[in-house]
Amino acid sequence: MKYDYLVVGAGLFGATFAYEAAQRGKRVKVIEKRDHIAGNIYTKEVDGIQVHQYGAHIFHTSNKKVWDYVNQFADFNRYTNTPVANYKGEMYNLPFNMNTFNKMWGVRTPKEAMAKINEQRQEMAGKDPQNLEEQAISLIGRDIYEKLIKSYTEKQWGRKATELPAFIIRRLPVRLTYDNNYFNDDYQGIPIGGYTQIVEKMLDNDLIDIEPGVDFFDKKDDYLKDYPKIVFTGMIDQFFNYQLGELEYRSLHFETEELNEDNYQGNAVINYTDAETPFTRIIEHKHFEFGKSDKNKTIITREYPADWHRGDEPYYPVNNSKNNGLYKKYTELAQDKANNVIFGGRLGQYRYYNMDQVIAAALKTVEKEFD
Ligand code: FAD
Ligand code: UDP
Repeated sequence: MKYDYLVVGAGLFGATFAYEAAQRGKRVKVIEKRDHIAGNIYTKEVDGIQVHQYGAHIFHTSNKKVWDYVNQFADFNRYTNTPVANYKGEMYNLPFNMNTFNKMWGVRTPKEAMAKINEQRQEMAGKDPQNLEEQAISLIGRDIYEKLIKSYTEKQWGRKATELPAFIIRRLPVRLTYDNNYFNDDYQGIPIGGYTQIVEKMLDNDLIDIEPGVDFFDKKDDYLKDYPKIVFTGMIDQFFNYQLGELEYRSLHFETEELNEDNYQGNAVINYTDAETPFTRIIEHKHFEFGKSDKNKTIITREYPADWHRGDEPYYPVNNSKNNGLYKKYTELAQDKANNVIFGGRLGQYRYYNMDQVIAAALKTVEKEFD
């Protein structure tokens, strides 16, 4: 069969593109280096529990178009993410809200909380925050920064909070209500029956052929020769053999354990925000689906951040100005030397995308390509 497109990577970006291309009558070959589809949103059922193999994934968006789009491929439950932070045994609600402020300072009203936050902000003296530490202090003050942010962030990113971009901490809401919802978005949930089905349904088309267990770089020159157009969702710097230098990534190591008990930690996500605990969080998978599975079994995963070296899984791009500058140079090189290749997704576009943003980016690419 002659194909119109080669899609490299069967994650959410690649699958959305392949689905839309096939809807338009295009023939698509999808290759994937892992032995399964769905990229980092892959979930697998064990003991009746959907295990999030590559870390907790909660779908949330304010983009109605994306929400309707993803609902074509799965029904979502009403899960609302309410992680809890464990700081040396003290438990704090997240994101930073009246429950957190009450536990931290004993304040009871929004006015009292605001007064405390304003008092703590004074150390910034109205200065514009230049990095994550300054941004955090100017948002909620030093007490919360020291107990709930600094060490978690430095473990997660392997860098000082003063060397990280401010935008990372602005992902988290700060609110003066007793509301533990981690996100401000209009829509939120977990697909009933897991995430893998979404990608499975997207790729279930006679015009799409999938080949798992195949690395693009094993036959890069042949692929470039044989396919009129390529959608590449791997690392853009690797595509160019790192010729302008390496982009930085953060990796993770997951340690999953099956326990013969009903309820290990009482919540889907508990963050460990001290410096001494080597992992950042423990997720207990059954709580994403309200513990509907076997009473005597639960599955937990500890998430350990790790340095990235060539060959490791690059889970997070490190979007500081140095890397963003280098990424821009790679996009210029792409325009120049690889104009039949579309780079997409978290790695291809080197952006800290959530799932909804990946779908939106893929649909934008589709629009540009076909309409
Ligand atoms: P991926 O899912 O990484 O897909 C790329 C695919 O390409 C992979 O399967 C990879 O194996 C394959 N590939 C790469 N190179 C090659 C090659 N050379 N040859 C063949 N195949 C190749 N988002 C949310 O919205 N909510 C969350 O709660 C959330 N939690 C997250 C938690 C963690 C720990 C992480 C790491 C991410 C989280 N995300 C979350 C982000 C979400 O995972 C991504 O937005 C989304 O999965 C990215 O899709 P993608 O297709 O761009 O990339
Ligand atoms: N963060 C923190 N303490 C927490 C949770 C998050 O300091 O208990 C910071 C940390 O820097 C993290 C960022 O907020 O990288 C974004 O958190 P999020 O939960 O969105 O990270 P992700 O799920 O993408 O890893």
